Amino acid sequence: MARQQQWKWAKDVDRLNEVEKLKLEKDGLDVIPDIEKYAQTGFESIPEEEFARFKWAGLYLQRPKSDGYFMMRVRIPTGILNSRQVRVLAEVARDYGRGLIDVTTRQAVQYHWLRIENIPDIFRRLKEVGLYSYEACGDCPRNIVGNPLAGIDPYELIDTRPIVAELEKTFLLNKEFSNLPRKYKISVSANIHNAGHAQINDVAFTPAIKEIDGERVVGFHVWVGGGLSNRPHLAQQLDIFVRPEQVVDVAVGITKVFRDYGYREKRHRARLKFLVADWGPEKFLEVLTELIGPYPSRGEDQLKEWNGGYFTGVHPQKQEGLCYVGLNIPVGRTSAEEFFQLADLADQYGSGSVRTVNTQNVIIPDVPRERVDDLLKEPLLERLTPYPKTFVGHAISCTGKEFCNLALTETKQLMYRTVQYLDSRIDLDVPIRLHVNGCPNSCGQQQIADIGLLGGKLKTPAGMVEAYTVSVGGHLNGKGRFNTQLKGRVEANDVPRVLESLVLFYKNERQPGESFAD
Ligand code: SF4
Repeated sequence: MARQQQWKWAKDVDRLNEVEKLKLEKDGLDVIPDIEKYAQTGFESIPEEEFARFKWAGLYLQRPKSDGYFMMRVRIPTGILNSRQVRVLAEVARDYGRGLIDVTTRQAVQYHWLRIENIPDIFRRLKEVGLYSYEACGDCPRNIVGNPLAGIDPYELIDTRPIVAELEKTFLLNKEFSNLPRKYKISVSANIHNAGHAQINDVAFTPAIKEIDGERVVGFHVWVGGGLSNRPHLAQQLDIFVRPEQVVDVAVGITKVFRDYGYREKRHRARLKFLVADWGPEKFLEVLTELIGPYPSRGEDQLKEWNGGYFTGVHPQKQEGLCYVGLNIPVGRTSAEEFFQLADLADQYGSGSVRTVNTQNVIIPDVPRERVDDLLKEPLLERLTPYPKTFVGHAISCTGKEFCNLALTETKQLMYRTVQYLDSRIDLDVPIRLHVNGCPNSCGQQQIADIGLLGGKLKTPAGMVEAYTVSVGGHLNGKGRFNTQLKGRVEANDVPRVLESLVLFYKNERQPGESFAD
């Protein structure tokens, strides 16, 4: 109880939303040991209210809830894996998840079809290789995203791996931060092309340089209050410069501000973005400074043009003679079989390292230049090709109605069908990024897409059908910009042809050098 008294709303329980009351009764993390018990007693023995806490174990009920299957998300901080971990991820999918693996927009992986009886063994297998599903969901610090090329990136100011590891150690399973008002997303990247998608995270660290006492110091600028879902907000920068060794202190301070001042009455107003929007970055910094003391003001921002989060193809690393090979996973859906092969290729051609990317793709790093041609001939790279066609190579999809209880529409098949159609009919020299969400929660991040699709329903003479709003022109350059919704809704069957018209209009009418977002 002492910990709960740290935040003011605990004194006024009647005003809390229902999820807050559940969290006061029992911390989300306390469900983890109980899952061992439920695995023995069976799905039917799980009290209804416990499913809300299962998120802290990285588990959601899969659609339809009554069938008793779970979806599990595994955190992969900044997307860095070794081949042993990749094999264990593949084994779990093979043994318990019907072989399916989805790579998510936060560099995590997701399983489907899991049974409660299997969960303790999955926890054990993951833990043996240093992987966790804990706090991959829930009102707590989620998987830390960032630069998938950390440590090998010619365009990073510093290697952020030690910082991310320290943050993970600080936040994971820490009950000081396991009861936040809502989900909480951290991004850390020193890549100058905004690999961590700073503006759509609750807190983000991006590369900066400041002259201090005559020395040019490499560090970070700090953004707060970004987030998508309904009522999306772009994060705003605080007037603060942070040295690498100070990142954890600052992240802890920001998290305490959110924990203690974030809104807990209305669930839809609970994300940090609403507090930051109400306070503004100046007041937020004032309150933060009371906790962490004064920091120097901002230095020189080092962010240049956003790369969209795409690393497909063969590229030189900062280590002379080594390359990384970015592979496309069509709409983020892969398999145990492909993950086994990926682990083998990473060992055979690279250093055993594999990276997951927030565009639902993967990277094999550390490949000697002279071995690249052989790697490119491997059978796995026929499907997970480093040289995908334009549209399939820039397509993102959330889970959708296939497995997600919140979904209004199917998503992955629609997106795959659409990009196949577009790639077969349009030859374009620049990428157009397509994203689809099956509901406003925006796991597919449709607001930052060149063309974003949001699933909903449409009343037609034949009854209610699945349909999508279309939004155009989002990006994360500079301060970032969300796309603009066009009028009307498009029935699912018409999506490929409507997008074809939009893309052809751009292709035929554009001025020299004009991008789709322009
Ligand atoms: Fe489910 Fe909605 Fe997230 Fe898609 S955006 S995975 S439908 S919650």
